[in-house]
Amino acid sequence: MKRPLFFSLLCLLTFGAHAAEAEKPLRALLVTGGCCHNYRFQTEALTNAVSKFAKVEWTIVNEGGRGTQAEIALYGKPDWAAGYDVVVHNECFADTANPEYIRRITEAHKAGVPAVVIHCAMHTYRAAQIDDWREFLGVTSRRHDHQSRYTVKRVEAEHPILEGMPEQWVTPMDELYVIEKVWPGAQTLATAVSEVDGKAHPVVWTHQYGKARVFGTTFGHGDDTFRDPVFLTFVSRGLLWAAGRL
Ligand SMILES: [Zn+2]
Repeated sequence: MKRPLFFSLLCLLTFGAHAAEAEKPLRALLVTGGCCHNYRFQTEALTNAVSKFAKVEWTIVNEGGRGTQAEIALYGKPDWAAGYDVVVHNECFADTANPEYIRRITEAHKAGVPAVVIHCAMHTYRAAQIDDWREFLGVTSRRHDHQSRYTVKRVEAEHPILEGMPEQWVTPMDELYVIEKVWPGAQTLATAVSEVDGKAHPVVWTHQYGKARVFGTTFGHGDDTFRDPVFLTFVSRGLLWAAGRL
């Protein structure tokens, strides 16, 4: 009689511990700001959307003004990402090129801090001679096509991040980023075709950078994209995947 009771209690305790672990909020850092986009609105839309999927304690860093060049105080310390389960990069500073500054960011990720990279993050540090940031992103892009409503094709339809995405999703008016290179470790999940040259470009992908998972999308220019439930769902799921919760 005693053993089954003991094991039942043990199971109950184990289950309880797992439940507590699952409910532990994710600690997420969102770095945003810079040129060309409505980051206040995007931040509100994104954090609201993710809250429907998981409990998240957000730290928002919106610094550097609205220009294309800034070095923000956050990255001043090598351990700037300590304590976060995931970092979301939704910033836009194409003309910042300082290699030491950029490597303080990428080294933290390479050591294991997961990341989500959105839209202009792909053109951030575009002026840099070093490739570290682009290797971290998983893609190299230096320009984008005009705004249009792009049809998105799933190429890894079974990937859990894409669950709920229609077979062909048409974006709100958004920019198509021209992808020059997909880095080793990156896997394209969805593409869209350029109306300029007919080439299919990755628009959603996963990446392994050092010890960290990275999830990326080049969409996210305008407010309407951040109102689109398909976009908000795959970005939320991408964040969970990067953090090891999907
Ligand atoms: Zn844009």
